[in-house]
Amino acid sequence: MIESNPSLASLIDSASAAVAELSGHAARWRAAAPGRVNLIGEHTDYNQGWVLPMAIDRYTAMAAAPGVPGQIRVRSLAMAEERSLSLDQLHTPHRDPWMRYVQGVIAQYDRRGVRCPGLDVAVVSSVPPGGGLSSSAALELATAHLLEAVTGQTLTPAERIQASVQAEREMAGVPCGIMDQTVVELAESGQVLLLDCADQTSHSVPLGLQAPALLVIDTGVSHSLAEGAYAQRRAECEQASALLGVNTLRDVRSEQLARLKGEVVVHQRATHVVSENERVRDAVAAIAQGQWDRLGMLMRASHRSLRDDYEVSCRELDLLAELATAERGVYGARMTGGGFGGCAIVLVETDQLEAVAGSVSGQYDDRIGWAPGCYRVQASAGAREICAAL
Ligand code: ADP
Ligand code: MG
Repeated sequence: MIESNPSLASLIDSASAAVAELSGHAARWRAAAPGRVNLIGEHTDYNQGWVLPMAIDRYTAMAAAPGVPGQIRVRSLAMAEERSLSLDQLHTPHRDPWMRYVQGVIAQYDRRGVRCPGLDVAVVSSVPPGGGLSSSAALELATAHLLEAVTGQTLTPAERIQASVQAEREMAGVPCGIMDQTVVELAESGQVLLLDCADQTSHSVPLGLQAPALLVIDTGVSHSLAEGAYAQRRAECEQASALLGVNTLRDVRSEQLARLKGEVVVHQRATHVVSENERVRDAVAAIAQGQWDRLGMLMRASHRSLRDDYEVSCRELDLLAELATAERGVYGARMTGGGFGGCAIVLVETDQLEAVAGSVSGQYDDRIGWAPGCYRVQASAGAREICAAL
């Protein structure tokens, strides 16, 4: 029921074999970057608040060999496609959207004085594209580390994060926040990352050896509402800040929310953001003290708040959260990511993992019509060059 996660070594091997086939030369450089999941802290990032994501043991692996001068060829096994880009067109968005993520990072490095030579590249990934586990940031940061391996020139982690964020915003045209790239780059094994989105400072919080397991369940849907609703929520948060006379909702305490009572919707939105920020900080304390019941309770409260006050959930996410929460051995469950589809995350006793996945999956299938993807995720280290054989 739970899909197994292919090892990083096997992904690197596949990428190396694919690039050898593409170029006729053995792979010379390799890099990998993980996907991520957000434990708690949803829709707080653009309100300058706090988030608590972790990198997962699903990766995008890339391998490269010298290519034709002036040209980059990329083969993506996920897309079952091969595309090329002429380096004299580096700053013009490629006609294929997926190439823009790779191109965008190379273009950002170019702006920083790092020139990419002609290259053949293969991409292999166990992060489902568009599934809410940030395959985009994984692709960007894997590209960044690959390019550094190729050129021998390195940026700092902060510069790498910035280059990836800019690549996604400017070349791929996605108005993303900073969370995904930050955690994909900075994550440490066995730790979640508390990130302050106001000043982008972060610190790692160890989960500890006694932590329950984390299960990600993919609804298999992504409703088209998401984009418009995202812009609308941002506008409503700005309206709430303006009415309260603050720069961002980060600066608001729950006692102040009463002043928004006349504006029902804006009051709801602000209530979610303010309470979610409190839950993130509470969650850090719960983890530090190994209080898994408390962490589970915070996850359940987060889901309710996203469903009722922020109104970004959907039937499928609500069903997964409800089914999982009803299972024995489950501490809590919530939607994770922007909403309107994507994944739920479940905190569950390790010895109940298979039973919970089987039961939730079966009931979801009965009600919705297909079995959801189930992944066990473990907190993993961030993006890196892969030097020798793993
Ligand atoms: P998420 O980051 O949640 O997976 P996004 O919509 O932000 O979803 O990014 C998904 C897009 O990133 C894909 O549609 C594709 O353009 C690109 N992408 C991600 N992984 C790969 C890959 N392995 N090969 C090619 N393109 C990829
Ligand atoms: Mg993404």
